[in-house]
Amino acid sequence: LPIIRAEASPGYVPEANFYKVEAILRPWRIPQVSSALLKMGIRGVTVSDVRGFGAQGGSTERHAGSEFSEDNFIVKVKMEIVVSKNQVEEVIEKIVEEARTGEIGDGKIFLTPITDIIRVRTGERGEKAERMMGGRADMSSAGSSARVPKTT
Ligand code: ATP
Ligand code: GLN
Repeated sequence: LPIIRAEASPGYVPEANFYKVEAILRPWRIPQVSSALLKMGIRGVTVSDVRGFGAQGGSTERHAGSEFSEDNFIVKVKMEIVVSKNQVEEVIEKIVEEARTGEIGDGKIFLTPITDIIRVRTGERGEKAERMMGGRADMSSAGSSARVPKTT
């Protein structure tokens, strides 16, 4: 399957420090997506079983008034991932890479600004609440110093 990239974003409006990446995906692709996200240091993820209707639902035969009837909603999984702004694009790219089959029904990703995060256990807010121990930020700071090639 050829690699495709999410088109460059013109910048997110309204601007925020954190964003929620909400992806509606094929259930059987979830193990692959979540293990790839875990490998890149994403630890905070919420998953729900949902049912939806998109082009894939619409491809089945329609009867008047029954386009959205119970029986043609298709089972999907919704993944919600809140990350800091500078992590949004890599998370989106990874989801597209791992979830895509190229067939109708691969899903959709919605991006929402998040105004604050509160960790219930500690009462921390904002950046402190968003950071996860051993998460993406820790990995990339450790990884970049470890991977910088010596030039002498
Ligand atoms: P603590 O250190 O107190 O355990 P935590 O940051 O690890 O805090 P949890 O209390 O484990 O957070 O989070 C509870 C639930 O919140 C998780 O099971 C997950 O569903 C959801 N969650 C946490 N962080 C995120 C996130 N960044 N994005 C999406 N969902 C999240
Ligand atoms: N941005 C957090 C970190 O780098 C991780 C966020 C998440 O796992 N959803 O620690």
